[in-house]
Amino acid sequence: MVIERIQFLKDEINKHNYLYYVKDNPSIDDYEYDMMFAELKRLEEEHPELKTPDSPTQRVGSISERYEQYTHKYRLYSLDNTYDENELTRWYERIKKELPAGSKPSLDCELKIDGLAMALTYEHGIFVRGVTRGDGVVGEDITNNLKTVKTIPLKLFEDVNLEVRGEIYMPKTSFLKLNEEFEAKGEKKFANPRNAAAGSVRQLDSTITAKRDLAFFAYSVIFEDAPNAPDNQYDAMQYLKKIGFNVNPNIRLCTDIEGAIAYCNEWENKRNGLDYATDGVVIKINEFGYQSTLGYTTRAPKWATAFKFPPEEVKTKLLNIEEYVGKTGTITPVAILEPVFFAGSNVSRASLYNYDEIKRLDVRIGDTVIIKKAAEIIPKVVKVVDDGHHYEREIFMPPVYCPVCNEPVISKPYETFLYCSNINCTAQRLARLEFFVSNTAMDIDGIGVSIIKALYDQNLVSNIQDLYKLEEQDFMKLDSVQEKSAKNMYEAIQKSKNNPLSKLLTGLSIRNVGKETAEILALKYRNMDNLMNASLEELSALPNIGKTIAFSIIDFFKDEKNRLMIEELKELGLNMEQNTGSVSDALKGKIFVLTGTLKTMPREKAEGLIKNLGGKTTSSISKKTSYLIVGENPGSKLEKAQKYGVIILTEDEFMSMLNNAR
Ligand code: NAD
Repeated sequence: MVIERIQFLKDEINKHNYLYYVKDNPSIDDYEYDMMFAELKRLEEEHPELKTPDSPTQRVGSISERYEQYTHKYRLYSLDNTYDENELTRWYERIKKELPAGSKPSLDCELKIDGLAMALTYEHGIFVRGVTRGDGVVGEDITNNLKTVKTIPLKLFEDVNLEVRGEIYMPKTSFLKLNEEFEAKGEKKFANPRNAAAGSVRQLDSTITAKRDLAFFAYSVIFEDAPNAPDNQYDAMQYLKKIGFNVNPNIRLCTDIEGAIAYCNEWENKRNGLDYATDGVVIKINEFGYQSTLGYTTRAPKWATAFKFPPEEVKTKLLNIEEYVGKTGTITPVAILEPVFFAGSNVSRASLYNYDEIKRLDVRIGDTVIIKKAAEIIPKVVKVVDDGHHYEREIFMPPVYCPVCNEPVISKPYETFLYCSNINCTAQRLARLEFFVSNTAMDIDGIGVSIIKALYDQNLVSNIQDLYKLEEQDFMKLDSVQEKSAKNMYEAIQKSKNNPLSKLLTGLSIRNVGKETAEILALKYRNMDNLMNASLEELSALPNIGKTIAFSIIDFFKDEKNRLMIEELKELGLNMEQNTGSVSDALKGKIFVLTGTLKTMPREKAEGLIKNLGGKTTSSISKKTSYLIVGENPGSKLEKAQKYGVIILTEDEFMSMLNNAR
């Protein structure tokens, strides 16, 4: 049982690490993630024999392959964290025991900025390099992008050699504005300011980064050649301020842990007034001498810890429950709330997920409810507060007919959602078209929500195929569309015909098949026909697929209408292959070694894919090896790779790397 739970937690955490660090698109809030992480850590402490080097508890972050990699001169770490004040006192007592008797370490308290860690190198006072933390050993070199951030000084007031670490963040107001712009264009919004900052600074095109409002707070420094360098964190921060860095003004030096706890409590309330997101307080032993005595674990400094603010909750009234019909017919209930100012913005809607959740909460229109928001992710209703009238209110019943087209609502085996049964429902059709052209799917430039709506209203398109039958003149029939933009839109549609299979598959809105799953399927099956002929057993056995998704795929391709649609798209000239003809060299210079058995493909196929992308494979580990891919029952190569500090990839991580490289 424990083994299975550990494996489950590892898989879940790895999945969320990928979404958070590589995709900048988390699907759960930080509190949920931290609870899983804490449970895994506890289980591994109780069963040390089950702790493996590939466990997320032994690693820092994750690294994307999209950018040039840079090996840090000095390793970067994560931080241990707690949500419990008492744990802070225990941490401080433990620390004191590890220091010489009579030591009186002071505590430097800083706000924990919710952004992205950066290491900036200055030579003779000039900014020469900026690298993300990545996995702590290797980061992404994004110097050019960082040069566009105004609060990163390009030249310091002193001629010094040093490495400064700090956090890139996006002010809350800029984040809200950016999301409004995305919404207007029908693009996917960022979940919170942290993801907006990470997504903006890690752009391949630095002119995009330059357009985003990003800022930087410095929070640590490594002096290379400074005999008079400060000997403690607090003074080092004052020094950084003096030479031109932006240092958070709310730093405080405390003489004991009670003072540090008071600081945490004070900022838990005050932080909402700040224009940047904070997810806690970092407490650091102030004296550098004590810091080096204490040292590091594999993942974090022992001389520092983070107190994380608990998820924020607020009370408000549920005015209504509205129902939204999505692209696959999913009917999602949304709570309409009495507006309340909360975590830096006005909140008037919250997620209710599905009708099982409404039943579980027994939430009724008119109830007073508690909503929760962690790390500024979309708020959700978590509880009903008994105001004495709850039982007098009507029990909320799930709809029997679609709120848009009035056709019957259905449920599916293995699923908690309700669906509109009518594939021709206007809401579904529009949502499918909007999603198809979005940058998550076919990425058709210049065509957003408003153009799709106008084309649909004028009966120019009612399904995906229709988009490819449009002529340039058709766009001119729309209000305020001029010749030039009509031409651009027409050409963007034609260009999208060459997209790889993964993009088309994403755009088809197959129930439960999002971008990640579409990429896995495209990589495995290579072309549409192979996928359409795959069996339920075969699909269910794929990693990250499982029975529910496999059923959805089979259902989709069983439907005659969908098979005809694919035929029509083929005839209209859409590419149905994963290889678009151009061989990428995204893995150029990288040397891979494989160990153990891969679940998704034979070894030769993995080797072929690496070669196709410009990488090399060898049979044994050396210092030159870039990555070891670890399948089931790995051999001794794993140990050797750890010894040489080679980056170890699970099969899932390898698949993600391939998808990103294409
Ligand atoms: P972390 O963010 O909890 O703490 C370490 C980081 O704190 C440092 O790298 C630095 O970037 C930052 N920091 C901010 N202010 C600082 C200051 N004043 N001094 C020092 N450091 C400061 O750790 P992490 O390893 O970056 O990420 C782990 C956390 O990320 C998790 O605890 C979780 O909250 C979140 N996470 C969430 C998901 C999700 O799906 N929601 C997934 C992965 C990680």
